[in-house]
Amino acid sequence: MLNKNQIIELDITSLTSEGSGLGKYNGFAIFVPFTAIGDKISAKILKVKTNYAYAKIEKIISPSKDRIENDCPVFTKCGGCQFRHLSYEAEKKAKNQIIIDAFERIGKIRAEFMPFISNDITDGYRNKVQFPVYKDKSVVYGFYAPYSHRIVPINECKIQPKIFNQIADFVTKFCTENKISIYNEEKHHGVLRNIYIRQGHYSKQICVCLVARRNIPEFKKLSHLITRHFENINSIVININKANTNVILGEEEIVLYGSETISDKMCNNIVEISPKSFYQVNTKSAELLYSTAKTLALQNRESLGNVLELYCGIGTIGMAFADCSTKVIGVEIVPQAIENARRNAKANSINNIEFFCGDAEQFIKNFSSSIDTIIIDPPRKGCSAETLNSICRLSPEQIIMISCNPSTAARDCKILSDSGYKITKIAGVDLFPRTRHVETVVLMSRSKD
Ligand code: SAH
Repeated sequence: MLNKNQIIELDITSLTSEGSGLGKYNGFAIFVPFTAIGDKISAKILKVKTNYAYAKIEKIISPSKDRIENDCPVFTKCGGCQFRHLSYEAEKKAKNQIIIDAFERIGKIRAEFMPFISNDITDGYRNKVQFPVYKDKSVVYGFYAPYSHRIVPINECKIQPKIFNQIADFVTKFCTENKISIYNEEKHHGVLRNIYIRQGHYSKQICVCLVARRNIPEFKKLSHLITRHFENINSIVININKANTNVILGEEEIVLYGSETISDKMCNNIVEISPKSFYQVNTKSAELLYSTAKTLALQNRESLGNVLELYCGIGTIGMAFADCSTKVIGVEIVPQAIENARRNAKANSINNIEFFCGDAEQFIKNFSSSIDTIIIDPPRKGCSAETLNSICRLSPEQIIMISCNPSTAARDCKILSDSGYKITKIAGVDLFPRTRHVETVVLMSRSKD
């Protein structure tokens, strides 16, 4: 039996999808964050559950050879990165194993796992940041501490461009000097809630989106100063969020400067992106992800035929696949993303693609055209059983699943495999170096009876 605050000795033998190290103590699974495979530690038990417990490092007795010196002052405090204490080689190996474990253990799936894919760029890769703000002596921004709503101030973040901090510094300094009202989450009053910045990787165009409970005249002045002080500002938007929730963006948007959108390039296509549209945060690795998916999909054929793409966002995947498809139909729930997608197709003169705004489950339930390839790229929770059922009813020859959550991907692939799809190939692609997140591409083909 284990007790809270007990100190135990532990060998870390694997890493989990949550980014924790795992060791066994008398058959009990003990999860300890910020450890490495091969660490021998003494661990302090924090929380005991029926079959497992959470602990933290008390002392590293003998360190793993995978460990490196951490180079970030807020690592372990800010909730962003989980793996800065590991060499990147060790991180890639661990992420590959996390995917294999998810498919073999949850999915009971035996498939060919391709070598793990990464472009090995671990710094400055993010094209987007969302900083919550709070009022201390001055106005401060940062990231939430892990599993908390306490904001840890951030002066620099290695995985994003320096310009994001420079803009946030500028905005918060202005807010302090001009006594701008800052949102207080507990009391649910105040105005400015979040500083959300996105920069096109290739275009360098920047959108600054201030999330606030209401618009105030000072934002116009701030907007003017931002454009004078920084280059490449293409868009300054106030997003109005009056709700008392954790959801960052509200419905209403007011454009203070430039356009509502920024442009970028993805897989050689021009894309316009609205603040509310999803866009992969690591552009270069997303290109690697999509080209891997395309290579897999085309390995036994020259054309993908009629393609249905669920959860299509601004149309990046569908447009990249259009040249080897008869026709592509994209479905996405966010109206602004569909507006972007339609304009993107036009801007790139892609004429064999059509986009529909709606819920993927509802759309596919009522869909009956003949489809050869289905592409799915769902959010972390994966697909509903109904959606998977409808996919099987359409009986495409191939299904390509792209997923940011190996556990739900494995669960959904198992359902498709039980319905007659053979899991042909699985590849992990690292879009989120130094964090616990990883993308998976799965190629499935209809079994020939
Ligand atoms: N394939 C795109 C987007 C993937 S992210 C890309 O790579 O850029 C998942 C997308 O699914 C998001 O754009 C999100 O808005 C959308 N989405 C979430 N729930 C949905 C639903 N129920 N129906 C349709 N789209 C949904």
